[in-house]
Amino acid sequence: MNPPSIVRTNTAELYDANVLKNYARAPITVVRGRGTQIWDDAGNCYLDFTSGIAVNALGHCHPDWVAAIARQAGELIHVSNLFRHPNQGELAKRIVGYAGPGRVFFCNSGGEADEAMIKLSRLHGVAKSGEEGKCYKVICAQNAFHGRMFGGMSATPQEKIQKGFRPLVPGFVFGELNNLQSFADLIDDQTSAILVESIQGESGIHPCTPEFLRGLRQLCDKHNLLLLLDEVQCGVGRTGKFYAFEHAGVRPDAIAMAKGLGGGFPIGAVWISDRFADLFTPGSHGTTFGGTPLACAAGLAVLDVLARDKLLEKVTALSGPWIEDFKKLAAEFPKQLTGVRGRGFLIGLQFASDTAPYLTALRERGLLVVGSGGNAIRVLPPFIATAEELARSVEIFRAVLTAKA
Ligand SMILES: *Cc1c(COP(=O)(O)O)cnc(C)c1O
Repeated sequence: MNPPSIVRTNTAELYDANVLKNYARAPITVVRGRGTQIWDDAGNCYLDFTSGIAVNALGHCHPDWVAAIARQAGELIHVSNLFRHPNQGELAKRIVGYAGPGRVFFCNSGGEADEAMIKLSRLHGVAKSGEEGKCYKVICAQNAFHGRMFGGMSATPQEKIQKGFRPLVPGFVFGELNNLQSFADLIDDQTSAILVESIQGESGIHPCTPEFLRGLRQLCDKHNLLLLLDEVQCGVGRTGKFYAFEHAGVRPDAIAMAKGLGGGFPIGAVWISDRFADLFTPGSHGTTFGGTPLACAAGLAVLDVLARDKLLEKVTALSGPWIEDFKKLAAEFPKQLTGVRGRGFLIGLQFASDTAPYLTALRERGLLVVGSGGNAIRVLPPFIATAEELARSVEIFRAVLTAKA
């Protein structure tokens, strides 16, 4: 692979002058990506284990994915949901194939997918109580993250995310993750749903235990509540199963997905089980852009490559030794690296102190990873990463830990 042509621009100045200051960005300007690697405008190459925050499932510019998008771009890009088109029908069928009998609504992001699930919980509450405004409470988890829209933000009990935006949408209450009793204690006549991430992502990779997810399923069955699972970050293969909840053997009533689904092209989707799919009737929800021919072509290409190249099996096989290597590293540097969590290519490394200096040092040694809540670092390789690249990521962590010991 040739290095990219060096384009020196004044991008940093343009950002400083014109782009909203709602992010603390790393000080590099990325100009090209290929597979597991990206290049900055100074010609530096990085091993990209951020995957665009769990998005680039096939890495950067996978040739089959690029070809599918290019082909579709020359055929039909957008028609709105006034009409059918083949790709949306086909992608819905594939998702139903993974999730079970049900129906799919397409949108453009994780936040929108969560919003549709929250709206579903309202419709279920109306059906359950026979009246609007009577049954609308949703039980969520402490430290959850469900996006930045008003519904999802209200379901995200983190001061840094809610501060300045109150009043929030009413009706969200919070139990302790993996403490079933704390969820059971919150159920009353006004409760319509339970909403959790199968594995909490933004707060530092905290998985629901299989027993907890199965217990939530039982609570929902007993009290006629919807079990809504946010698989926006952990879904579409990242844990080695198509959905992370499959490890627990449960079936939710609705699933939100987005990040990995388009492999880098924006798309979100909500699957709703047959039992509840008809709560949405014509006109009750919608989006102009959701599920365009182009977005669905990108999603189909991701799912095609996932199946053809057996990437779920590959993630499962390669992640085992890789996670073991991180655990060994934690044993070598117990004062700095205090824990390793997660599954497949969705790993959280718990640090004893602020991770910003580590993130900088890792970047300077050519490895890009994602900071997250509570002094954790997320390591999120694309599914195409090789055993050699995974091993290299551990070595770069080792070098940084050694230097900072
Ligand atoms: C990223 C994320 C969202 C929000 O998705 P956007 O595409 O940023 O709107 C929602 N839920 C979870 C679990 C996420 O990780």
